[in-house]
Amino acid sequence: MGFLVVLGGGESGVGTALLAKAKGFKVFVSDKGIIKNKYKEVLIHNEIEWEDGMHSEDKILNADVVMKSPGIPDKVALIKEIRIKGIPVVSEIEFAAQFTDATIVGITGSNGKTTTASLTHHILKQELNVGLAGNIGDSFAKQLLEEDYQNYVLEISSFQLDDIASFKPHIAVITNITPDHLDRYDYQFENYIKSKFRIAENQTEADYLIYDADDEVIVNHLKNNPVQSTLLPFSLEKVIENGAYLEEDNIKLTIDNKELIMPTTSLTLEGKHNVKNAMAATTVAHLLKIRKQTIRESLENFQGVEHRLENVLKINKVQYINDSKATNVNATYYALESMDAPTVWIVGGVDKGNNYEELFPFINEKVKAIICLGVNNEKLVNTFGGMVDVIVETQFMTEAVKIAYKVADSGDNVLLSPACASFDLFENYEDRGRQFKNAVRNL
Ligand code: ADP
Repeated sequence: MGFLVVLGGGESGVGTALLAKAKGFKVFVSDKGIIKNKYKEVLIHNEIEWEDGMHSEDKILNADVVMKSPGIPDKVALIKEIRIKGIPVVSEIEFAAQFTDATIVGITGSNGKTTTASLTHHILKQELNVGLAGNIGDSFAKQLLEEDYQNYVLEISSFQLDDIASFKPHIAVITNITPDHLDRYDYQFENYIKSKFRIAENQTEADYLIYDADDEVIVNHLKNNPVQSTLLPFSLEKVIENGAYLEEDNIKLTIDNKELIMPTTSLTLEGKHNVKNAMAATTVAHLLKIRKQTIRESLENFQGVEHRLENVLKINKVQYINDSKATNVNATYYALESMDAPTVWIVGGVDKGNNYEELFPFINEKVKAIICLGVNNEKLVNTFGGMVDVIVETQFMTEAVKIAYKVADSGDNVLLSPACASFDLFENYEDRGRQFKNAVRNL
């Protein structure tokens, strides 16, 4: 089968290595950083050759094909050399997809991927044999090896899409596109948009592209760069003939003149953005012939995903909400929009060139106090100082939560929705969310 070099010994790299070995490839895993022990053990146990702390270029440049982990940028000198030598570079989903005939639902977008993928999987699994993989939990490659599902819901990042060639989901979803990760795209938003749209590049009329018709970036791109796919837009603002829209309190979905009506009032997930996520998931479920009753019940009993507008506890009638996954302004926009009570807002971390202006109306309307939680809070204080009565700074989660506890009155919300990356004070957003929840539980 040839010689596969896997660059990057994380979840997708090790998953690919295992799948490739099982398919008869000679495999070598190389990671310039340090491979985590849990992955090293897997490689050793499966007798897969590996190295870390270095790249043995001679060996790597002998590959027939290279799988590049999503974390490795294209600009790295070694990747350039590999390409110059004409060795194909693929992502994990591209490599793995060739080994399955399963129906693939691919979900991408700047925000809402995990929520939409989890909700879609939750509905489909009631009636179909379906796996959930990609950026979420196990890698696609590892799942393929362990269980041969007939359907897969895949959460797909733009980095995974950058190195596809023939990958084609039967149903693709683009939740929305707002500027993110621009450092990997030469600071050109257009490059990032193109990367997201690669999810549809191999689709034909027999395949579907579901997208947010209220998102101007998506709509404009489609206008100038039509795709082959059958389009199924969704909207909160306008009537959609073929696709989903909001008619009073119902999602009204029409596909080929067949209608489906779902009440939004019984959705467990809060916020307008989650109505959009539900529209996308409902459209997928309807296409895959899930019964109406099943879709309705699944929307009603889906409990949401940790760190995404997660209700933690109510203390003295104050609701504490963990939205640690909000690592950009757009995600926080929807969090603040969904607040239905005066809110003490914990924000901050590593700023990604944030522009906070779109949040101003919510600050005036709903935010009573701002707690800035980061190593450098200067921009937040300069931006929001004067807009609220209370604005404080801290570098400690426990202190942030204690201040919030003091400031909040009965009936208020305390919302952690940082709009920033977490790595100034925390390991990752999960660590930040867990620390928040622990601090709340210890109040
Ligand atoms: P992703 O996997 O794309 O990062 P998540 O589902 O993990 O998306 O959600 C990330 C953040 O974005 C959370 O704060 C969540 O509340 C918010 N969010 C979820 N869905 C949407 C959406 N459709 N539009 C905007 N923000 C969203």
